[in-house]
Amino acid sequence: MKRLCVSACLLGVPCRWKGDAKPCEAVQRLADDPRVELVPFCPELAAGLGCPRPPIELVADGARVRALRVDRTGDATGVLRAACEAEAEALARAGGVDGFVLKSRSPSCGLASPLHDMQGRETGTAPGLWASVARERFPAAEFRDETTAGKATPPSLR
Ligand code: SF4
Repeated sequence: MKRLCVSACLLGVPCRWKGDAKPCEAVQRLADDPRVELVPFCPELAAGLGCPRPPIELVADGARVRALRVDRTGDATGVLRAACEAEAEALARAGGVDGFVLKSRSPSCGLASPLHDMQGRETGTAPGLWASVARERFPAAEFRDETTAGKATPPSLR
């Protein structure tokens, strides 16, 4: 059995900041595969940011990357990081995880999401907070986004 942690919105959970979902056919196929166990997780919901919620984005602050509201009225970095570390710990205690299928471009889930300056100008890319914590905690895991989710099951499991 292959165990994959997936961004909950890709499984059809309406947990995005606007209150909608982003269902992905390839992720649904993984959900229907009896050889795969999916663990859905939405870091922004787990962090208590609510749904719908004001949108956040990644912002460079010197060497740090913060998750700030787009309108700069709040900083979600601390609560998001705490929720991500708690989920990583829960996954590790439950036996670990073989891989992740994460929503692209999200400030929480994206593997290479847009990075901004304080004025909101895009200056590059950085991993979302959950992607960053997950990579640190599970360095041997396979990381994919919804565009390559169909390859998340290795040939031996097809
Ligand atoms: S935080 Fe991740 S799982 Fe939650 S809505 Fe955003 S992309 Fe989807």
